Amino acid sequence: MITHEQADFICEQEIESILAKCRRPEPSQVRELLVKAREMHGLSMEEVARLSFVESPELLAEIFSTAKQIKEEIYGTRLVLFAPLYISNRCANECTYCAFRATNADLKRRTLTQEEIAEETRILIRQGHKRVLMVSGEALPPEGFQYILDSIATVYETKIGPGEIRRVNVNLAPQTTERFRQLKAANIGTFQLFQETYHRPTYAAVHLKGTKRDYDWRTTAFDRAMTAGIDDVGIGVLFGLYDWRFEIIAMMQHIQHLEQKFGVGPHTISFPRMEPAVGSEIASKPPHAVSDADFLKMIAIMRLAVPYTGMIMSTREGAEVRRATLEVGISQISAGSRTDPGGYKDGEGDPNGSQFQLGDHRSVEEVVSDVVSLGYLPSFCTACYRLGRTGQDFMDMAKPGEIKYHCHPNALSTFQEYLSDYASPQAKTAGEKLISIELQHMDGQQTATALPMLNQVRRGERDVFV
Ligand code: SAM
Ligand code: SF4
Repeated sequence: MITHEQADFICEQEIESILAKCRRPEPSQVRELLVKAREMHGLSMEEVARLSFVESPELLAEIFSTAKQIKEEIYGTRLVLFAPLYISNRCANECTYCAFRATNADLKRRTLTQEEIAEETRILIRQGHKRVLMVSGEALPPEGFQYILDSIATVYETKIGPGEIRRVNVNLAPQTTERFRQLKAANIGTFQLFQETYHRPTYAAVHLKGTKRDYDWRTTAFDRAMTAGIDDVGIGVLFGLYDWRFEIIAMMQHIQHLEQKFGVGPHTISFPRMEPAVGSEIASKPPHAVSDADFLKMIAIMRLAVPYTGMIMSTREGAEVRRATLEVGISQISAGSRTDPGGYKDGEGDPNGSQFQLGDHRSVEEVVSDVVSLGYLPSFCTACYRLGRTGQDFMDMAKPGEIKYHCHPNALSTFQEYLSDYASPQAKTAGEKLISIELQHMDGQQTATALPMLNQVRRGERDVFV
């Protein structure tokens, strides 16, 4: 057993007492909170708890419209797109909700070779992707951790003409500080890890075997990642395992801990809701299922609570819920996803090799066309990470609203790349119309940056960013 730090920054007693205290918010209190949220300095744990108990339709509408306003202020119409890349579904752990769990005999096991990873990458590049989230179960092949490092290198090295993946984020098991240093040296973007649940008794009940049983090892993973120099970390909870209100207050404790210790909170928050999975009973009947209404409320509240943090929605959700979440705070979405290793090559995705059931089966182009029709600007930008604007540097630039002079032009240039290289004629026409509308809405400084960049891309230059 490895000796390591305890996650005493997660304090169940404090969470319970905050929730008990904030159960009946007065409308006047809620409205005061919303005025404060509009200043975009975030909210405290008590304030988050109070908002989580709001039920009145009028007040909820005010929460949603405030979240929308804040999102538009910070992100404008931009929406970042990515795809997951599953490299192995072999796992030594026994998480009761996951199809990859060790004893699940119904699952077809597969660990991709480097050539198979290159093939999956080529398919993602041809779909127009520039960033992937590499995902793996927790049983390594004989070459050990080197397999992960090699896989990251394979993705970066795979090119098709000007097409390439420019940012590899990872969702992997918690690592030692030394291995985090190796991941940093391999050039990962974000290290993403979901806590699943912050509630210790529930955590113990759903993790039956393997290193994942160790709550503290998982909860302190970001401390080790940040100590190793990984500035961008992505947090999340698997919603459905325990009370969502408890989980979001615990998430706030985790965020506060990272801010106090490292001067910067997480780069992103993900909102996975539990989906049915082959060979898992609990996944079809989550003990604390979160309704669509609560799901939207929770996302809106987190947008108010940590206004500058990227918020991610995966294809676990169906198209309709995904659209609704964009309105209230989500700033990044996956598209065209498969959750079985080799699933992009195999076409439809094999339900018996997949981690969970997808809610959104649309192709990248269908998702792009849909979000364009709703007025969002798809962005394939990876500039910040490549210019070293991560962690504190990113937050320093994001907070005064400066980011719009970088992100918006970069979103336009990378969307133009997508339209020129990968889109169908109809998608191209709709996309270029959106670009001209966006240009009309920009201020002089933004246009002076964006227009020359767009012209460079239209003339055939690639990877143009500021
Ligand atoms: N094995 C690593 C781990 O557990 O952290 C990383 C990969 S794991 C495949 C990624 C995430 O998938 C897990 O953290 C969990 O939150 C999520 N997941 C597992 N089963 C799920 C299900 N039935 N529905 C939705 N998400 C699920
Ligand atoms: Fe393995 Fe991760 Fe699935 Fe747990 S959630 S069974 S650790 S892949």
